[in-house]
Amino acid sequence: MPGPLRRAAATGAGPRAGSGLVAVIGSVGALGPASLGALVELLLPEQCATCGIGVAFAPWEDTGPRVGGLRSWDRPHFCAACAARLFAQPRLGTVAGGASRGLPQGDDDGLRVVAAAATSSELADVVGAWKYHGVRGLGWPLARALAGVVAPFTAGLDGPVVLVPVPLHRSRQRRRGFNQAAMLAELVGAITGLTVEAGALRRHRATAQQARLVEAQAREANLAGAFAARPPGGIGRALLVDDLVTAGATVRAAAAALATAGWEVAGAAALGLALSRDDSDGPHVDTPDDDL
Ligand SMILES: [Zn+2]
Repeated sequence: MPGPLRRAAATGAGPRAGSGLVAVIGSVGALGPASLGALVELLLPEQCATCGIGVAFAPWEDTGPRVGGLRSWDRPHFCAACAARLFAQPRLGTVAGGASRGLPQGDDDGLRVVAAAATSSELADVVGAWKYHGVRGLGWPLARALAGVVAPFTAGLDGPVVLVPVPLHRSRQRRRGFNQAAMLAELVGAITGLTVEAGALRRHRATAQQARLVEAQAREANLAGAFAARPPGGIGRALLVDDLVTAGATVRAAAAALATAGWEVAGAAALGLALSRDDSDGPHVDTPDDDL
């Protein structure tokens, strides 16, 4: 993790430091969310999670609605220039394997994935700070970048679609405190007006963390049967939402469960899409994707 991210995680943006601070503040007196936020800002001024610049010295990313687990003291921790640079080049690709698994197929015989960027090590660090180190306020700029590619993608479909976040197993969600895909879907839904069906999928089996499984076969076996879906209610077409897609094993398994329950799957939307190991047009970046 780069220096600014480490500082952000260690000095109040992280859940432990943040909770401790809140406990101290709470013991001093009863403060409302607005004054609590102001006090946190005074004691722990924001620094950009990527370049480290202070909030007073650069245009800054805005906050937004508090949905999907965002709290009153969360802040974006991202300058506008870094957000623009990180998401300058959206990416549309496919993850292979749809045909052999009875999945709805994209144009290239696979599941279509629309991403706000190609996954770089810098993006992986920002996403890691957000979901592993509790810098939840990064959810706002990340979701705005994702909404920027979801809106044109869904507008190009020939009918309505609902956003379905990839669920965490409840034990992992309890440990992390929030589901990053659900936060993304809720925020993207708020920005685009698309409906979110957070309960369409559930993860009924805890599996090993995908990021630690290198071989594709191990990833597939790890996820086989991990998801279950309920049948669609009104709109029967889903766009999966996850944070980072690398091998695509998670979104393929999730899409297979939806298809089995009668859904049409339009594709998956992610912050970052990494090149496969076989791709010759760029480096592969190992990322903490596909985790539960
Ligand atoms: Zn910055």
